[in-house]
Amino acid sequence: MLADTPGIHHITGVVRDAQQNVDFYTDVLGLRLVKQTVNFNDKFTRHLFYGHETGSVGTVLTFFPYPAEDDGRIGKPQISTAALAIPPGTVGYWQDRLAAHGIDTDGPFERFDETVIRFTNPDGTQLELVTAKSSIKPWVDGPVPTQNAIRGIHGVTLLSTNIYGTASVLEMLGFDLLDQEGDRVRYQSAGDRATVIDLLDRDVAFGREGAGSFHHIALRVPEKDQLYEWHDLFRERGYDVSRVKDRHFFHSLYVRESGGILFELATEPPGLTSPTEADTPGQQLYLPPWFEEDRSMIEDQLPPLELPTDSESR
Ligand code: ZN
Repeated sequence: MLADTPGIHHITGVVRDAQQNVDFYTDVLGLRLVKQTVNFNDKFTRHLFYGHETGSVGTVLTFFPYPAEDDGRIGKPQISTAALAIPPGTVGYWQDRLAAHGIDTDGPFERFDETVIRFTNPDGTQLELVTAKSSIKPWVDGPVPTQNAIRGIHGVTLLSTNIYGTASVLEMLGFDLLDQEGDRVRYQSAGDRATVIDLLDRDVAFGREGAGSFHHIALRVPEKDQLYEWHDLFRERGYDVSRVKDRHFFHSLYVRESGGILFELATEPPGLTSPTEADTPGQQLYLPPWFEEDRSMIEDQLPPLELPTDSESR
């Protein structure tokens, strides 16, 4: 019997400039650069992971910087927006903080009894901060005071080409219909964090993948054995599903649901950081064993990156 997914594992987007990406997510949003590695399908492209201290599931945003990438356009079928959880009562702090960094915000407005502000990162990626109670321990050595710090992922908003198709795959994965407000339909999983997926029932133009767009959303699967079961179930039901892949930090598969959005199912173990490297995990370029012999070639090819040091970024 397949277990429901507890919630979101990570969200991945495409941007243009690695340095701008690091500066925004560490200096402005106060997340930790938990891991810098390369795209396992393209070793001369970086892959940057941000989250709380160890980058546990439900806290992680990841980005592929492609310097020559064209601008993306938000539309269907896409993940239009990623929402991050902030403690209730901190909206004013965040409005001031973002304004001080020259970032315009929309809001605050109320939605499902939560307060939301909306803004974009320098590539145009749509983000929200949403007040929500959370058990996640934030990254405490960043520039944002602990009481205001981001508590991980709150959820995502999806623009689907077939909202009923997307809803049925969410239900298959274990999300329940929670509520509807205007053209926003909220689904929620039963986990302890990163449990919200909103479907927007809105007539919008088709989007284009590129800088500023999200690439996929990954959902949590506790064990690798379950990935094979999910694989078989998706295939039986006629979905376009990949084989199970070794992503080093987790095993995963990808499925394109009938509303056009790319979902990844990713295992919780082994995780982004081992206990021995939890001190400064993002400071060195991490390569999986199969790329180690090419390290010097890879390091020569990647554009230089100035990293925050945890103490300096206070
Ligand atoms: Zn992924």
